[in-house]
Amino acid sequence: MTVELISVGTELLLGNIVNTNAAFLSEKCAQLGLSLYYQTVVGDNPERLEETLRTALGRSDVVILGGGLGPTQDDLTKETAAKVLGKELVEDPHTRERIQEFFDVRSIGEIPDNNWKQALVPKGAIVVDNDNGTAPGIIIEENGKIVILLPGPPGEMIPMFHKDIFPYLNQKQPEIIVSEMVKICGIGESKAETMIADLIQSQSNPTIATYAKVGEVHLRLTAKAQDEAAARKLMKPVIRELKVRFGGHIYTTDEQTTLEEAVVQLLKEQQISLTTVESCTGGLFTGRLVNVQGASEVLKQGFITYSNKAKRKLIGVKKLTLKEFGAVSEKTAKEMAKGAILTTGSDAAVAITGIAGPDGGTKEKPVGLVYIAVSVKGNLRVEEYRFTGNRAKIRESAVVAALTLLRTGILETIKF
Ligand code: ATP
Ligand code: MG
Repeated sequence: MTVELISVGTELLLGNIVNTNAAFLSEKCAQLGLSLYYQTVVGDNPERLEETLRTALGRSDVVILGGGLGPTQDDLTKETAAKVLGKELVEDPHTRERIQEFFDVRSIGEIPDNNWKQALVPKGAIVVDNDNGTAPGIIIEENGKIVILLPGPPGEMIPMFHKDIFPYLNQKQPEIIVSEMVKICGIGESKAETMIADLIQSQSNPTIATYAKVGEVHLRLTAKAQDEAAARKLMKPVIRELKVRFGGHIYTTDEQTTLEEAVVQLLKEQQISLTTVESCTGGLFTGRLVNVQGASEVLKQGFITYSNKAKRKLIGVKKLTLKEFGAVSEKTAKEMAKGAILTTGSDAAVAITGIAGPDGGTKEKPVGLVYIAVSVKGNLRVEEYRFTGNRAKIRESAVVAALTLLRTGILETIKF
């Protein structure tokens, strides 16, 4: 099946917002095994949208339109799609109820009249509930073609796609596509690719695709088969082989699990309490941990010791160490971790100190130099990193490296 995307919104044409929805939908269509040959961005203009939709329907089996389902005057996607497909708009009582509920639950008060416009759907359409907003998704099947309308806000579109649109498109195909994710930390993308170059080349079902993330590599296996069980069976030996090759670098085979979740889970399982001390990352590392539900079970305290004085006063880094080796040094990182444990009595500590730039670098200590010390149950280790990129990228790289190093530290205490 061929699929085509139409993103609707003048804001997109003007460059005011980035078309992240198109990136998301393209990736999902690839996962579904759909052939995507065209993507169009069109402004909030009914004539041009009509022309674009007619063209798309002339060459693709499925057309996905995003945006312009809102209650305002310039939201015209639904009206235009109904016109092109020759459907009249009728009120959907279920959607009307949901809109009422949406406002009730949030105590927003009186429902503006134009919101009821969102309860109108093309006659005979499949209505897809929106759990995060008022505009439902709409699927219209007509003359062997499928037109799907999705809300523009990613916070509404993405959950809706996962929950209902992906399964719908999947069951429309003769063969189903199932994919699994293997997530790796502590190995760079090119190295990871080299390690499995033979597998990538020789496999056609499942296929293996690598995605580089900051400090991580994700491998997506995608198999085509008659049913889900058959697809999983095809992937099983390949996943087993990946486990052999990457060993402990694999932190999860679950699509949804993040590195910080895997780390918090490990801390919980091992009943290890943690204290963090951050300099150049300024709380970013602690913030990532706190994003994980239940982090309070393991995270005791976080220090942001940005100045030398704070490093001395709060966690007892020695004045002499700072003077002799500097704040960004192996020795300081170690003392930060040790000091954190002494101060709070936790089982583990992570300390991060580095130069995030763009200023402050020297020849000996360039921008991107970061030391991370991790202490787990008395085992202290420190690593030096040289990250590249801008300030934000360096800080993010440091956070991911710290998560990886902490994970390694915990795993080692389990082995011995
Ligand atoms: P609303 O009810 O908010 O009006 P809508 O379905 O009419 O939703 P739009 O008005 O087109 O959608 O867009 C609403 C917001 O959703 C935009 O301001 C933007 O923040 C976000 N958005 C829309 N389209 C995209 C896109 N293609 N990629 C990323 N974000 C988008
Ligand atoms: Mg809108």
